[in-house]
Amino acid sequence: MKTDQHHLSAKAIYNASNNINKLLQLPTPFYSAYELSRLTGQSIWLKDEALQPTGAFKVRGAANKICQLSEEQRQKGVVAVSTGNHGCAVAYIAQQMGIPAYICVSERVPDNKIANIKRYNPHLVIEGDSQDETQMVAQRLIDDKGLTFISPFDDADVISGQGTIGLEMFQYHPNLTEVLVPLSGGGLMGGIALIMKQLNPHIGMIGISMEQGAVMHASLQKGQPVTMPEADTLADSLQGGIGGDHNRYTFQLAQKYIDEVILVSESAIQNAMQFMLYEHKHLYEGAAVVGISALLEGLVKPTGPTATILSGHNVSPQILQTLIASSTQA
Ligand SMILES: *Cc1c(COP(=O)(O)O)cnc(C)c1O
Repeated sequence: MKTDQHHLSAKAIYNASNNINKLLQLPTPFYSAYELSRLTGQSIWLKDEALQPTGAFKVRGAANKICQLSEEQRQKGVVAVSTGNHGCAVAYIAQQMGIPAYICVSERVPDNKIANIKRYNPHLVIEGDSQDETQMVAQRLIDDKGLTFISPFDDADVISGQGTIGLEMFQYHPNLTEVLVPLSGGGLMGGIALIMKQLNPHIGMIGISMEQGAVMHASLQKGQPVTMPEADTLADSLQGGIGGDHNRYTFQLAQKYIDEVILVSESAIQNAMQFMLYEHKHLYEGAAVVGISALLEGLVKPTGPTATILSGHNVSPQILQTLIASSTQA
């Protein structure tokens, strides 16, 4: 059932901030990066969401969604379809709140991803040969058990939860001129842009995606949501579509608030991961460093204090091996 109270506004994001403060240790660190600032000539600020309990920001949206469910909905439980950060976030928040979570993944999901999700003890449903089949498995659970579906990005409460990142950055640093946000389904960008543009209409909101399979970028160019095949990328958390014609929120938010979308190459993403590893001594996943890639490549020229979101650090063992092997001369 749709209700009016779940709408998108600055107020909903302030409320989300109160909601999720009980479940997460906020604010996450926001610090200026010396070497990046030196290289770009402007102060570059990094919002570190890798320090969230599951290693990615998605716990914010999951927490804001799940804590607003009715008592009846909580008793029945929640369901998500995700092999990655969203599945972990839903499982973790449900565990914290003591409610049942069902995480559906396809039979193709690699063992290391299964192990990540299992840490949070959800009902793990491994069924289906493709994303579509697994989505049907989730629908069956919704019909049979009355579970509530938790969308990874296209939900007002999830978007408001991710928007709390923008609120935290603004409260700490009200004079940012540009914000570089990793862009996939657009929940992260939608929430952050909504609040930051209201607080400062002149701020530049720049979405960053990988070159292959950038669905939101293609959709914005076409003027309507498109579907396209997935491609391999180091930024694996940015893979996936925006829901095609079913998209309810994030495409419109992107049309309204994004000033520019920049695409970065695989080699630029790899360089940025290595830069963060060797310069900053921190490991971040490919999706998290696309903003750093754009800065290092000179694809974005910051005009003043500029921030980017380090969205997570869940790097697969294969990608980590590639990264270290390719950097022996570094
Ligand atoms: C989900 C995710 C993103 C992209 O968020 P969207 O809301 O889908 O645009 C970026 N980085 C990481 C690490 C993620 O898990």
